[in-house]
Amino acid sequence: MKLFFATLFAKLAYIALRILGRNASHFPGVVALKLCPDYLSRVKKCPMTICVTGTNGKTTVTNLVADFLEANGKKVASNRLGSNITEGVTCAYTRSVSLFGTPKVDVMVLEVDERASRLILPYIGPDYVLCTNLFRDSLMRNAHPDYIFEVLENSIPEGAFMVLNADDPLSSRLKEGNERMYFSVGRQPSDVEECINRVADNTICPKCQTTMKYEYLHYHHLGHYSCPACGYTAPQAAYTALKADAEQLTLEVMHEGKLRTYPLINDALYNIYNEVALITLASKLGYDEDTIESTLKGMHITGTRLRELKAGGIDVYCFLSKGCNSVACSRNFDNVRVHPGKKAVYLALDDMSYRKNSVEFDGWIYDVDYEFLNDPDILQIVVGGPRYADHRLRLLMAGVAPEKISCCDDEMDAVDLVEPEGIDKVYILYDNTIYDLSFRIADKMVRRLTEAAK
Ligand SMILES: [Zn+2]
Repeated sequence: MKLFFATLFAKLAYIALRILGRNASHFPGVVALKLCPDYLSRVKKCPMTICVTGTNGKTTVTNLVADFLEANGKKVASNRLGSNITEGVTCAYTRSVSLFGTPKVDVMVLEVDERASRLILPYIGPDYVLCTNLFRDSLMRNAHPDYIFEVLENSIPEGAFMVLNADDPLSSRLKEGNERMYFSVGRQPSDVEECINRVADNTICPKCQTTMKYEYLHYHHLGHYSCPACGYTAPQAAYTALKADAEQLTLEVMHEGKLRTYPLINDALYNIYNEVALITLASKLGYDEDTIESTLKGMHITGTRLRELKAGGIDVYCFLSKGCNSVACSRNFDNVRVHPGKKAVYLALDDMSYRKNSVEFDGWIYDVDYEFLNDPDILQIVVGGPRYADHRLRLLMAGVAPEKISCCDDEMDAVDLVEPEGIDKVYILYDNTIYDLSFRIADKMVRRLTEAAK
């Protein structure tokens, strides 16, 4: 009875919020858990559950997996918007069943927050767990990658099939007793042998604690590693992404010694990881390579992560850059740096929750590679938000010339500081807590650039 009323009131809350134009991905779960605190263990499960976790890329991969399965005729329920703690997952379950608790879908595809995994995974018993990677993340929320590893290790059930990143010395070791398949990215033109990032955790051999050697290193601690002392090495990947062609939009992938070309969804290296993770999971689910290739043709990165616009001959890119997550911001800074053209960068990276609760910790910006923004083709950097002075200081420390930096404490007003003169591309990098505001920022930016071109 408890379960029935929890489902009923969650569904009513969902309908009411949708009428009000809200996304309703969290609160209905709060309602269900209030009425039935063990909702997740009681609710009837559909035939297959796939969970996606990891520090970076999990919303993108969750959406790619859900899109892939839907394109192949499956009925899917998912927390696509990234509500990935207990309430969000519960909300997705209340929508996956009828009022009387019968599953209405074939597959649940769930993004699961790493730290919240202990409250979720043991109760839903996933058939597949895909972990994208483990990096340093927000210190207040996630402490340290080794701590998060232990949380996941103790939360993932014994029977779950693991899809893991062979290039990550940490997450590749999750649940060593479980069946598994690995994905990886092979040597890239941009690779290095010594880490150039400010942060590289997990570079010590897990068996004998010697510093590992990298044959090539993509970024931070991801690459092809081996231990010079005991011989511990990266596991063999089932699928390895090799050459990505951003012009032709193709991606070469090696599988059992054979090369095959797939459509490229997006050329950022972190999205190549996301794509090869999807290919690996899809093959494990029994899809043949022709089906995978034809399905990938129509796929794209979810609009909450990446949007591309045009304004007065200038390309405008909107990238989600999670504040407090130094690796996510560094990846986007690097991505901006390697794109060709003369560029302006607009940053709105302050975690909005800080405004309510004052600041706990802003040291994360010293883990971010602001140095990537010190580039001759980046002509201007505009910072908007209440902590603009911290970002400005960090940019100056990275060697960016003061005359290139413009700041304003209001994100919308900061748009007026962007100077279109001589610019081919504008990059808007925004924190996930200002997702809604990012649309208004982008609209104003497009208007400003269009006006200037007249
Ligand atoms: Zn070793």
